[in-house]
Amino acid sequence: MNQQISESQNSFIENNLNLIHGRIKKACKKSGRNPEDVRLMLVTKTVPAEFIRFALESGEKLLGENVASELKSNYTTFHAEYNPEFHFIGFFGDDEMDTVLPYADCIQTIDRIDLAVEMNRKLQAMDMQKDILIQVNTSRKESHFGISPEHAIGLVLKAAKLPSINIKGLMTLGVFDTTEEKARSCFQLLKNLFDEIKMLAIPGVQMEILSMGMSDYLEAAIEEGSTMIRIGTAIFGERETPDSFYWNEK
Ligand SMILES: *Cc1c(COP(=O)(O)O)cnc(C)c1O
Repeated sequence: MNQQISESQNSFIENNLNLIHGRIKKACKKSGRNPEDVRLMLVTKTVPAEFIRFALESGEKLLGENVASELKSNYTTFHAEYNPEFHFIGFFGDDEMDTVLPYADCIQTIDRIDLAVEMNRKLQAMDMQKDILIQVNTSRKESHFGISPEHAIGLVLKAAKLPSINIKGLMTLGVFDTTEEKARSCFQLLKNLFDEIKMLAIPGVQMEILSMGMSDYLEAAIEEGSTMIRIGTAIFGERETPDSFYWNEK
């Protein structure tokens, strides 16, 4: 069945996109940054394909995928027509890496050396290179994914030796349901690490992408140096599936 998106759904998404782009521009202006240096990622978990199509028609270019099967199906649906960039932002369940690697332009959730080693091995077998970000647990909450800030540089140094992965930056979830002050301190921590790693000038490591900030504190994230804001709900509306489905703690 060819699902049609209704006028009101269209204008809902259009308004939301305008609002978010407006907030990004305003925050950039306030902190003296070029709005072109801050990219908007649309997080697509469970979002119907026709909503995503509408956003791509509006000129959006970057999709964030949490689940390997959704990445594959969105790639299959949209690659030829719109050629968006796909970033994987989920954790890896069993056997998901094989599905993710052919379709993701960048993988933002590398937080352990064994994951990096496994990825490098698979990439070598496919004769491919892949961009990755190191995910850092800036909130220090047990329940969050990411390597601890103390161990992040050690992981970068080890992963930098793997020839088929290219480290392009850092990503964090930060904290949700919190105060701006707490969110900001997560962003500052990630930015400081980013600058520190940049100064180390490690061969094979380019600190270009600082993926941090969601809808609640995107202004603070931009002021603290974010180059990539990740937004789902504030563009596409509430999801039916709870986030615990995607950030399933084992
Ligand atoms: C779901 C998700 C987002 C976006 O969250 P929303 O609340 O839908 O805006 C951003 N980053 C990651 C890693 C996510 O899993």
